[in-house]
Amino acid sequence: MARHLITSAIPYINGIKHLGNLVGSQLPADLFARYQRGRGNEVLFLCSTDEHGTPAELAAAKAGKPVAEYCAEMHEVQARIAEGFRLSFDHFGRSSSQQNHALTQHFAAKLAENDLIREVSETQMYSHADGRYLPDRYIEGTCPNCGFDSARGDQCDNCTKQLDPVDLINPHSTISGSTDLEMRETKHLYLRQTAMKDQLDAWIDSKKDWPVLTTSIAKKWLHDGDGLQDRGITRDLDWGVPVKKGGEDWPGMEGKVFYVWFDAPIEYIACSQEWVDAGKGADWERWWRTDKGAEDVTYTQFMGKDNVPFHTLSFPSTILGSGEPWKLVDYIKSFNYLNYDGGQFSTSRGRGVFMDQALEILPADYWRWWLLSHAPESSDSEFTWENFQQSVNKDLADVLGNFVSRITKFCRSKFGEEVPAGGAFGEKEAAVIAALTERLKAYEGFMDAIEVRKAAGELRAIWVIGNEYLQDAAPWSTFKEDPETAAAQVRFGLNLIRFYAILSAPFIPDASDAMLAAMKSDDSAWPDDVAAALNALPAGHGFAVPENLFRKITDEEREEWQERFAGVRT
Ligand SMILES: [Zn+2]
Repeated sequence: MARHLITSAIPYINGIKHLGNLVGSQLPADLFARYQRGRGNEVLFLCSTDEHGTPAELAAAKAGKPVAEYCAEMHEVQARIAEGFRLSFDHFGRSSSQQNHALTQHFAAKLAENDLIREVSETQMYSHADGRYLPDRYIEGTCPNCGFDSARGDQCDNCTKQLDPVDLINPHSTISGSTDLEMRETKHLYLRQTAMKDQLDAWIDSKKDWPVLTTSIAKKWLHDGDGLQDRGITRDLDWGVPVKKGGEDWPGMEGKVFYVWFDAPIEYIACSQEWVDAGKGADWERWWRTDKGAEDVTYTQFMGKDNVPFHTLSFPSTILGSGEPWKLVDYIKSFNYLNYDGGQFSTSRGRGVFMDQALEILPADYWRWWLLSHAPESSDSEFTWENFQQSVNKDLADVLGNFVSRITKFCRSKFGEEVPAGGAFGEKEAAVIAALTERLKAYEGFMDAIEVRKAAGELRAIWVIGNEYLQDAAPWSTFKEDPETAAAQVRFGLNLIRFYAILSAPFIPDASDAMLAAMKSDDSAWPDDVAAALNALPAGHGFAVPENLFRKITDEEREEWQERFAGVRT
């Protein structure tokens, strides 16, 4: 049995994510996890919320809540929505966990021991009234370039000029409004990524099977311009992992926290500790420590392309730099962007469909199928309501749903609610078995390689074979002349439903459960032998006609939703 460690990029805590975020990491990761489990392999599938940093503080302030309380609430919201989409995490953790605090401080201590951390003195805006240093986006003032009066310390939203807080005219704190600010010296820790450059380069060169999208981004950061730079890993903030050297204080770093981008990927490991501490697992080290059993683990990460630099360079710097035998990622599956109906998803403009809204409209499987079968792999892809309607109505309702409905209803009307005896499979069935065997091999190949769209295409072709068989065999006609042969055809069709349930589970888990339940089968073993799998339900085995698996989307609904999610112009 192979062992698969699978992580999805962890979603940031400040709000509900849109469908583009979902298809860029969590959903394909879930597809792969479900597939590997389906193949009988051992899987640990982890995801968490990413909770530290300035945006969390800002969002909490906007909501009028203490940041810890805000994060706890939003974690629950995201966990509930993830369940709604049937994301089958073994654990959904939190980067603010005590486990992550301790592990982040441990890594920092190891990196310091190995001379990979240096201290840097910088100046930063300090607010006397607030009693703290202000991150750039906590400072506003008048833009020296265009005169816009609410330019932020890092950028003017009006003319887009990049700014330094000292450039602003009449700067003030956005927390208190105070103008009593001064530039003060402050010390920060930098991770000496420059010292790791050759090691990272060699490691990435060793990954011959990585997608070009992943390696090209990593190589660009390693070599373009001045090449890979040392990276600040601390911030003057309250909310985060306190800067410590393991359990010890770090002189000069009192009151500072690690930068969110340092602690967030470490949460992948900490999440497995949370998984054990939650009583769901017994041993996290056999997944993460190559000296404690993780040698045979295959570790796959899923993420949007914007996250690739952190996962190919920053996080590996942490892991390799520690000098400890941690498991490194084996394969990074990265995604392009999903656009929305001729533009981009926009949180601020309410443009596009967000995860909670999607589930209010239609069940998870509808979205899962469209998103995965249109995953932005080789290029950006676009959600349009026409395409969504067509895909749901054709692939799910007409092809799969209709097949299940026709065969079960016909059997009930002629033979009753059990698998009919009589007759034997002949040439037609043998041809279908041969075609399915070939298609199944292709499906497995694409799933193993995480070629999501191609796998969806094979699955659709596998469903189509069933419909074509039914059309060709036409048991409703056969029945009139030769009820025995019709019985064999129906028996074959009912077995196909179970076969489809197993193969479709990674894409549409609810429909898969409904098909298995209708076939009164709890045997979801992977059909390595197609002929055997299509004899699994014997004559006399009871079944039920399921409720309609999928309904069609009407033109009126499509138009209504298009209007509803178009967003407001600002
Ligand atoms: Zn400006």
